[in-house]
Amino acid sequence: MVWKPSEKEEEYFARMEFERKKKLEEEKHQKFAVGEKQELKELHYRRCPKCGMELIEIDYKGIKVDKCSECEGVWLDAGELEAISRFEKTSLDKLFSVFKK
Ligand SMILES: [Zn+2]
Repeated sequence: MVWKPSEKEEEYFARMEFERKKKLEEEKHQKFAVGEKQELKELHYRRCPKCGMELIEIDYKGIKVDKCSECEGVWLDAGELEAISRFEKTSLDKLFSVFKK
């Protein structure tokens, strides 16, 4: 029999993983000098976190959705995923259709 985690367990494991990775990152951040952080920001600003190409930003119902011009990844700022999750299904479909080819 294959063991399948319940939804509660999946949530727990994901939260644990996030906490562990966040702690590692916070330790790294403390080693950065202020100038280094600024340099990184300028280098990566408005660029895809995955492939480094420019992002195309669209404003939909006050949410700024960034889509990569190369790999088509979609990126959200802090709080925007929560805001989108409160959308009605029809609004969600309309948002997706903006990016359809
Ligand atoms: Zn990309």
